[in-house]
Amino acid sequence: MSDKVRAMVQSGPRQMELREFERPTIGDDDALVRVEACGICGSDVEQYKGHLWREGAKPSIPGHEPLGVIEEIGERAAARWGVETGDRVAIEIIIPCHTCDLCLTGRYQACRNRRGGHGVTPIEKEPSLWGGFADYIYLHPDSIVHKMRKDIPAEVAVLFNPLGAGFRWAVDYGRTGIGDTVLVLGPGQRGIAAVIAAKIAGAGTVIVTGLAKDGAKLDLAREFGADHTINVEEENTVEKVMDLTGGVGADVVLELTPIASAPVLDAIESVRHGGRVVLAGLKGGKGIEITTDRLINKAITMVGAFGVDATAYVQAIEAIESGRLPLEKMHTHTFELADTVRAIETLAGEVEGEEAVHVAICPTP
Ligand SMILES: [Zn+2]
Ligand SMILES: [Zn+2]
Repeated sequence: MSDKVRAMVQSGPRQMELREFERPTIGDDDALVRVEACGICGSDVEQYKGHLWREGAKPSIPGHEPLGVIEEIGERAAARWGVETGDRVAIEIIIPCHTCDLCLTGRYQACRNRRGGHGVTPIEKEPSLWGGFADYIYLHPDSIVHKMRKDIPAEVAVLFNPLGAGFRWAVDYGRTGIGDTVLVLGPGQRGIAAVIAAKIAGAGTVIVTGLAKDGAKLDLAREFGADHTINVEEENTVEKVMDLTGGVGADVVLELTPIASAPVLDAIESVRHGGRVVLAGLKGGKGIEITTDRLINKAITMVGAFGVDATAYVQAIEAIESGRLPLEKMHTHTFELADTVRAIETLAGEVEGEEAVHVAICPTP
């Protein structure tokens, strides 16, 4: 490879450009990964548009869902991660300290001594290459990686990220069990991933909601095992769920819609007595008025879903490597690195005639 590494740098709202960086020198404890694919999600869209762009934020290389092949690795790093040059790895976002109380009790996502984050740490911190929208990404000694089989197409293997969220929300937080009725509000890539995870966990009935424009996504949800889909612009979600469950309600409700507040209220009304509601759809800081008496009288457990952890990623990777799922149907768009902005706009639904579910950047197609 050459001494230069191409990467997309975001320096402000809607300000993103391709730049070149020096190839970093790798020591005993770190590594360099050639990016095969990096997934794009709603938060990339929000960050690009500026909704998630903090005042005074420094330029960084976005891309927090990277998958790649180890290009160069130090001896100690290879022993610690159990990987060698040529291995494919899925990379987690957070770079935790691995030694604080939170890290030691498995809540490393909340580590307060974190070293940074892939797709988050600014380029001013050496060696700059922290994000996945690049030819190469740097692995810090404390980065977390998961080895993956190399015979799966990169655009499918990189689904480890949304699929990991599906397992985290439906199985870990939602505790979906055999025979359960699961309601998924929102049919985006993570909604479909939640359908897959719920079905693998043994859900009996899965119901997914969406808008009129989500027709293709709802069809896809059905292909992955959803038993019923609801177009919320034509049908009343709560009435339909009660109808389908003989008036009992869903055992587990996953609220995954962005910004809208009505689905949170639908979740509370659609869940059964003693059921669980998992909240994972961020509302841009907006408050929502709920009647807490409903939570008490229905004995509802409501849980906020923060991040995805290693357990969920491992479950996702096993599901991908099983080869039993037609995951290629979920991946709709591939772009090269220089077209990152177009890729983000495609996922955002801003490109006329394109209905995207999963979009990935493959730097060297
Ligand atoms: Zn993401
Ligand atoms: Zn820590």
